[in-house]
This record gives sequence, structure tokens and C-alpha cells, in this order.
Amino acid sequence: MKKQPVNLRVLVIGGGLGGLCLAQGLRKAGISVAVYERDSSPVARTQGYRFHMDASGEQALRECLPPSLCELFLATRGQPSKSLTVFSVVDGQLKEAATRRFPESGSSEFVTVGSAVDRLTLRQILLAGLDDVVHFGKEFTRYEQQHDGTVRACFADGTSATGDVLVAADGVGSRIREQFLPHAEVIDTGVRWLGGKTVLTNELRALLPTQLAETFGSVPGVAQSMVFGLVEFRQDPNQAAAHLWPGLRFHNTVDYVFWGVLAQQHLFAVSDDELNAMAGPDLQRLVLALRVDWPQTLRTLIEQSRPDQTFVLRMRHAKPIEHWQTTNVTLLGDAIHPMLPSGSGANTALRDASLLSCSLIAVASRGTPLHQALHDYETEMVRYGFDALRASLQRPDIRFTPTR
Ligand SMILES: Cc1cc2nc3c(=O)[nH]c(=O)nc-3n(C[C@H](O)[C@H](O)[C@H](O)COP(=O)(O)OP(=O)(O)OC[C@H]3O[C@@H](n4cnc5c(N)ncnc54)[C@H](O)[C@@H]3O)c2cc1C
Repeated sequence: MKKQPVNLRVLVIGGGLGGLCLAQGLRKAGISVAVYERDSSPVARTQGYRFHMDASGEQALRECLPPSLCELFLATRGQPSKSLTVFSVVDGQLKEAATRRFPESGSSEFVTVGSAVDRLTLRQILLAGLDDVVHFGKEFTRYEQQHDGTVRACFADGTSATGDVLVAADGVGSRIREQFLPHAEVIDTGVRWLGGKTVLTNELRALLPTQLAETFGSVPGVAQSMVFGLVEFRQDPNQAAAHLWPGLRFHNTVDYVFWGVLAQQHLFAVSDDELNAMAGPDLQRLVLALRVDWPQTLRTLIEQSRPDQTFVLRMRHAKPIEHWQTTNVTLLGDAIHPMLPSGSGANTALRDASLLSCSLIAVASRGTPLHQALHDYETEMVRYGFDALRASLQRPDIRFTPTR
């Protein structure tokens, strides 16, 4: 007997990379989807940094984005780059001391060539065409299972939304994970990443090692370590948008150096709450005030960075767990497998989004039972997601000492 198509209503909590990619994939297939994002607007906080896009992330975007947005993504990528698994160890004068790769076993599984991508640019592409799908200023608080098999998401403003599936795409601090899988632990390494962006001028380019264009640089011993990488756009993003998505204006169109100083929280001499409340210029001052013997080039790199673009992140990661009992609540990306920076977190979130989108399309168009589709998605996602997480814990160049 031919299975009937189903009218699915999908609720996605979180409008980051994974949630928006899923929404694009469902939208393209004509499935009803709504995204609820806590931020009040797309530019409510510093959204951007460089990340390495590998083949799996790119494939996910090809599957989920409409063709012209996919072309726009390809046109607005930065230069080709190797995964964070290949990195240049440089000395304080930014001269290369060694090139390393991990895992040291020589496995090539995690060493892929891809592109340096500006997260802010990609997020603008992922938001394009979704004005009626993404709801800003909606802070999810809890969900309730309904007697008719639907699920209700409740928001801090007192409103709610009801759907057939609830997807946690709400990142490392996921409220859905806390309610649904309270045993799933997130470990705080105690390390904080103070990061920023410095416009890539010709003078700065001349100071940087040439191989930095395709790898990530790491300077051990500056605080815990200092890392940096480049984004060099292949073409002017706004020119590309004029052809492919008229009306879209990108916020960032200049090449830059992305840097991060990693240090144990106590070295900053302020509490986490104080750190999180600090504005960009204060964070920039705090980095420079660290008791560090700054090589002059690195000090210059930080001094010349855009103060409003300085941000702080807590370095946290999940502990892998066994697959749970499947329900109509599921998870993707950092909401389930947050990992340490290793070139995989965003790529894995995008891969989850694409896989989940295919699974839900099978439910809507081919009548695959929802429970079976979600179970199969979760089985696969748990396997590769926690593998990527375990690999991220093996970075030899960044020391993460757990505080608990
Ligand atoms: C410095 C740094 C460098 C990185 N480099 C790389 C790299 O090179 N390659 C790579 O693959 N990955 C990299 N990553 C990891 C990558 O950025 C993340 O893994 C990825 O963004 C996760 O996507 P996500 O959609 O799961 O979560 P996010 O992008 O974090 O999105 C979660 C969204 O949910 C929203 N939200 C949270 N709580 C609520 C709530 N209660 N209600 C409503 N909305 C909520 C948030 O505001 C946010 O918009 C890096 C990360 C960092 C910090």
C-alpha cells in the first residue's frame, strides 16, 4: 500500500549554523518549519570568527540551500585551508618553528582540505529568505509533551508554539538537552578564549608567515597558547550577492586575521560573570594586561584589532553518552556534542542538519514513520558526532585542564 505524505510541523530552537541550515533544507522541501532564536536580532552580538569548512560541511550546504544561495556561499568563502588538524607552530617573531598534524598516528581521516569561512558571512547566507521562518527575541524555557502526540515549546515572553517535532539547535548551553537528557554532562575545561579580529593590512601581511594562509598558527607559551588564522575572501562578497541574491548586503567584506588567546579563567583576575558582562574594548584591554611576555608582533596584532569585535568564550565539551530512547524531541550540533575547537564543530552541526532534514523529508514525502526516521538519524549522528568530539580532545597544541 502506498504511504501517505504527512503534514509535519517542525520547531527548531536556536538560529545558529545548524538550526538555520536545517530550516533551509526543510523550507526547500516545502515542510513547515519555524526557528526560535533568543537573540533580539541577527546582529545582537558579535557573531563572527574564522572557521574551517571541510567537505562534509560544504556537502550539507549543497543539500540544504537553494541553488543560488549555495553559489553565493561558494563565492564568498575565504582562501583554501587545511583543517585545524594541520597547524603551524610559530615562535614569538611569527617565524615557523614546526608544522604538526594530529592525531599523531598519521590517520588522514581528520585531515581535510577545505576553506577558511567567515561565520558572520555564512550566517547571513543561512538567514537569507527565512524572514517569515526565523523569530528573534524568543528565549526557549521548557517544553511540554501533549496528549495528542505533539510537543509544545514555551518561551520566556509567555508565548508558546506547538509542533510535531522539536529540534534542539540551541548550542552548548542547550535548555532542551538539560530537560530531555539531564544526565548528559558538559565539562568546563576552565580555559577561556579571548578572541578578536584584526584587519589584514599589507604591513600586517608582511609580518605573518606565508603558510598561515592555509593553516592555523599556534604560539605555545603565550598565556596557555595563542592561535591565529586568516580569512581572505576569494571575491568581494557584495559583488557576488548583487548577482546571486540582490538586496543582501554583507556586514563584513574585509580580509582579517582571527586570533585567540587561551588562558585559565583565574589568570584574567575577574569572575566568569564579570568576563561575560564586559564590552569588547574592555576585553581587549584585559588581554593586553595579562602578565605575558608579549612578542611585539602579537601585541601589535591585538592592539590593532577592532575593539568592538573582541569576545570571550568558555571552552567546554560534552561527555559522550549512549543513544537515548527516541521521542519527538531531538538534538543537533553543539546542543548534543559540543567539542573543543578542532575544525569540526560547525561542520558536524551542518552535517547533522542535512541528515535530519533528509530524515524529515522522508517522513513528509514518503510516509516513513516519524519515530523510525528520528531513531535512524540519532543513531548515525551519535556515532560520528561523538567520534569528532573524542578527536577534538586530542589536540596536542592547546592544553585544556579540566576544573572538575
Ligand atoms: C573560536 C571558535 C573557533 C571555531 N572554529 C571552528 C572550525 O574551524 N571549524 C568548525 O567546524 N567549527 C569550529 N568551531 C565550532 C563551531 O562554531 C560550533 O560547533 C558551531 O557553531 C555549532 O553550531 P550550532 O548551530 O550547534 O550552535 P550555535 O551556532 O552556537 O547556535 C546556537 C544558537 O542557539 C541560540 N540559543 C541558545 N539558547 C537559546 C534559547 N534558550 N532559546 C532560543 N535560542 C537559543 C543561540 O543564541 C545561538 O544563536 C569553532 C568555535 C569557536 C568558539
